[in-house]
Amino acid sequence: MHPALQPVYDEVVSRNAGEEEFHQAVLEVLDSLGPVVQKHPQYTDAAILRRLCEPERQIIFRVPWVDDTNQVQINRGFRVEFNSALGPYKGGLRFHPSVYLGIVKFLGFEQIFKNALTGLPIGGGKGGSDFDPKGRSEGEIMRFCQSFMTELYRHIGEYTDVPAGDIGVGGREIGYLFGQYKRITNRYESGVLTGKGLSWGGSQVRTEATGYGTVFFVDEVLKTMNQSLDGKRVVVSGSGNVAIYAIEKVHQLGGVVVACSDSSGYVVDEAGIDVALLKEIKDVQRGRIGDYAEARGAKVHHVTDGSVWDVPCEVALPCATQNELDEREATTLIKQGCRVVAEGANMPTTPSAIQVFSDADVRFAPGKAANAGGVATSALEMQQNASRDFWTFDHTEERLEVIMRGIHQRCIETADEYGTPGNYVAGANISAFTHVADAVLALGVI
Ligand code: GLU
Repeated sequence: MHPALQPVYDEVVSRNAGEEEFHQAVLEVLDSLGPVVQKHPQYTDAAILRRLCEPERQIIFRVPWVDDTNQVQINRGFRVEFNSALGPYKGGLRFHPSVYLGIVKFLGFEQIFKNALTGLPIGGGKGGSDFDPKGRSEGEIMRFCQSFMTELYRHIGEYTDVPAGDIGVGGREIGYLFGQYKRITNRYESGVLTGKGLSWGGSQVRTEATGYGTVFFVDEVLKTMNQSLDGKRVVVSGSGNVAIYAIEKVHQLGGVVVACSDSSGYVVDEAGIDVALLKEIKDVQRGRIGDYAEARGAKVHHVTDGSVWDVPCEVALPCATQNELDEREATTLIKQGCRVVAEGANMPTTPSAIQVFSDADVRFAPGKAANAGGVATSALEMQQNASRDFWTFDHTEERLEVIMRGIHQRCIETADEYGTPGNYVAGANISAFTHVADAVLALGVI
């Protein structure tokens, strides 16, 4: 690491003890920025990196609610408002038992750079709760969301902070959150949340955007190799919103996704994952990947030990969660012919796995570039809300596609400019950082 950056990292580790995922996210960015601070000492002089690593505001609150057996339950709620140099804080809410401050900070930190890469006026933030929605009734989910918003509403607003979904928070939860916000404030302030339903202020393509965007990005990567998705064998991890729409878009572009997964294991479907069936099981029945295998009969089996990355493929799309693809799995993927990896999830690839890919010259697209389509479409939802408009599916998808191809272009150009051609990690980090850093400098010490 560049000598001007090491103290920044050391300070992050000592001031944020135990928050390993946050340290990892910071390290990944700092590792790329040596050539930038070398070329532009003004960033170091103005302590831009130290300022970016310290959230502008961190809110932690109690979320009390009553479950179906009349027991009082207490969860912890978070909102980390990381940086607002480019626009209102923007980023999702994650409801998962693993959520603690370190997870929210890693996600919020990444979000600053991801949002900058979209070129749209949105700052970075993230939130969530250690609430586990799994196995909870509809009524419990609603009461939890209402209690969560009863505190969160004070901190958000269309010009201040605009949450959306993430793991465990989809259209249903956004509905209950928005309903409670509307009730408390007596304002139909559509732009306060994104990921809303189409009849109450949502945008076409928002549901599909993260998965579709990742695949548009992969399509651009393949173009630089004079290839396309047509006929490619693809493996996707996860089976949530990002995975489902990544699979759908791969199939639209002529590839075949042969495997996907959830925390109970993975399924291999050589005929190509049946997306309509997967949607029905996951979104309507709220079932598991084993139910998919059962519905497909003898052709498909549910593998409960091992890893989805043991399935041979040419393109790998990790779309599940952080640190789900390690060094061993990266080595297996390469041995079996994988040449392109794009992160649909946030930080799914461990640092040593990224190193393995880069040593083998595998094209590796980091999440902050490859999965930026979700938040970019959230910004399009905000635009429609602000102008009281509703765009068609085709128009919105076209905007998304242009944004993703633009992000790819910026990554490539920046990587070239800083002497690391083809390195998407460097391209994404440097391009995003200079964009935010210039705004932070312009706004003064605030
Ligand atoms: N949670 C998504 C992400 O990781 C989307 C955030 C948003 O739409 O604000 O980027």
